[in-house]
Amino acid sequence: MKYVSEYRDSALVNGVIGEIRHTVTRPWTLMEICGGQTHAIVRYGIDQLLPPEIELVHGPGCPVCVTPLELIDRALAIASQPGVIFCSYGDMLRVPGSGRDLFSVKAAGGDVRVVYSPLDAVELARQNPDKQVVFFAIGFETTAPPNVMSVLQARALGLTNYSILVSHVRVPPAIRAILSSPLNRVQAFLLAGHVCSVMGYHEYPPLLDEFHIPMAVTGFEPLDLVRGILETVKLLEAGKVEIVNAYARGVTFEGNRPAQATILKVFEECDRKWRGIGTIPMSGWRLKPEFDGFNAEKKFAVEQIQAQESPLCIAGQILQGLRKPQSCPAFGGACTPEHPLGATMVSSEGACAAYYRYGHVTINA
Ligand code: SF4
Repeated sequence: MKYVSEYRDSALVNGVIGEIRHTVTRPWTLMEICGGQTHAIVRYGIDQLLPPEIELVHGPGCPVCVTPLELIDRALAIASQPGVIFCSYGDMLRVPGSGRDLFSVKAAGGDVRVVYSPLDAVELARQNPDKQVVFFAIGFETTAPPNVMSVLQARALGLTNYSILVSHVRVPPAIRAILSSPLNRVQAFLLAGHVCSVMGYHEYPPLLDEFHIPMAVTGFEPLDLVRGILETVKLLEAGKVEIVNAYARGVTFEGNRPAQATILKVFEECDRKWRGIGTIPMSGWRLKPEFDGFNAEKKFAVEQIQAQESPLCIAGQILQGLRKPQSCPAFGGACTPEHPLGATMVSSEGACAAYYRYGHVTINA
């Protein structure tokens, strides 16, 4: 397949790995921010091909994993209401709230549907004027454009029965939070190529100035990943604090300006709670007040929700690069993809699920 197979060419990947071996002289800890990158790294065994000096730790860039438990419980409460069609991407259906998941709501008779785009949910609202259609709008910067477009489309169609339940998060404040922690071990970042394809990478230079660490915009195929790692290691070894764009076929410095402008027509920045991590200031987007009619949190009265995480789950530490999945005592025993205790085992982008699925790890009994 053009533009995919070229980036999975083992000879090319091994060539870059050889360059990394040749370049590295001392230990470095790098974080890939994106869960899709974590998945590809573990799937293709890239972490095992790297020289032992390079440690990859896995960041919080899995939208399903960081959606707060309280919001999942809120989604479950809304989806259980009569007259509601609750729409979501497929991987949210199995994410456990504090007691159940969207699949169980569906099994109990709730009208829960998997859609491939929020615009499909808008079409459902158009076709079902007697129902309230709610779309679970989670994600990073990458999924913000279609989510805001769905609101603008619903408004253009005059729909009053469409709303979104928003849990949008942003990468730069998460990086600031990780680097500000006294426990931080990360010395360089692989930036998420798809986020940067929308947002560019003009938001990151202030972080370089503040924390003096290098970054590389990195794609998702094996060759993209090893190139991002190589560029980062070169910067680290040279003591340079710069950003290299190792994903130039998809990313420019400015990013997609029309998409950014459309996002900011509908969303405004807000503090946001990240599952397992806590509240990160100004790390989220929410609907502007003028779009309250499309805001599911305002439309549906749901009692104040207090949610409890499993006391066994260390996903918050994994998402900050402090621990690896196999160091969780529940990994592969009490917690499996069939019976997940935490979101990092459910999501296809979650680090625990990646280690379990492709695992070159010891499973806890
Ligand atoms: S293995 Fe399960 S319980 Fe342990 S951190 Fe991962 S999701 Fe949480």
